[in-house]
Amino acid sequence: MNWTALLVTTAALFAIILARYFLIAGFFFWALWKRTDNPLHGRKLTRIVPPKQLIRREMGWSIVASAIYAVPGAIVLEAWQRGDTAIYGNINDYGWTWYLASVPIYLFLHDTYFYWTHRVMHHRRIFPVMHSVHHSSRQPTPWAGFSFHPTESLIGALILPVMVWFIPIHVSALLCILILMTIVSITNHSGFELLPDGWLRGLPGRHWISAAHHNLHHQRYDCNYGLYFRFWDRLLDTDRLETEYDFLSETPDAPATSSSGPGG
Ligand SMILES: [Zn+2]
Ligand SMILES: [Zn+2]
Repeated sequence: MNWTALLVTTAALFAIILARYFLIAGFFFWALWKRTDNPLHGRKLTRIVPPKQLIRREMGWSIVASAIYAVPGAIVLEAWQRGDTAIYGNINDYGWTWYLASVPIYLFLHDTYFYWTHRVMHHRRIFPVMHSVHHSSRQPTPWAGFSFHPTESLIGALILPVMVWFIPIHVSALLCILILMTIVSITNHSGFELLPDGWLRGLPGRHWISAAHHNLHHQRYDCNYGLYFRFWDRLLDTDRLETEYDFLSETPDAPATSSSGPGG
């Protein structure tokens, strides 16, 4: 192991992850919360105005998380250069069918890992140590996308590096997954529902998690643990959505219902 190279790669990745976070979260914060002529005003999920102090805290934890994500990322990059991972550069190595299938397979496995680790972190003994930082954003903003306690960031950062060791993935597919992951993390905490009504009431909304779904998790704590798909939540009866938002049953401009504190 070349420790100097690893350190340089970690520092470079940290800068890239941080820039990606500030660019995407900054854009959605400006477009949704700052722009006075925001066309999505009617899709606001809350009447709460997040205080500046909360936003600063979300940014602080997200910066720490970005540094943590950079370490396994750099280990993977170094290993990739040595040819030790299952990341490949030539599509013909596994063909187009695998190229197209690998993305949903990666997303489903990541979602499964997220669902179960998330549920464990809601255990009353683990929650205060690992997960309460994330839930201190009762009404999150786009800046909460990476707002996790370092232990939670570390748990979250492990799965993709393990997967790229064993499951072949084209480098461009992996990049798409990383960008999608960042956009989903940020938009699902944006406080605004971004998917159009037709999608929400149709096939995509029935299976794909959007802001309204995850916002409810921050309000209620005891439902909607998934990351990308509603599959595990539906299967294990922890899925809530349609009955909670008026705009999903026709009337726009309705805030989320709020209820209890940490469940289990
Ligand atoms: Zn969240
Ligand atoms: Zn949670």
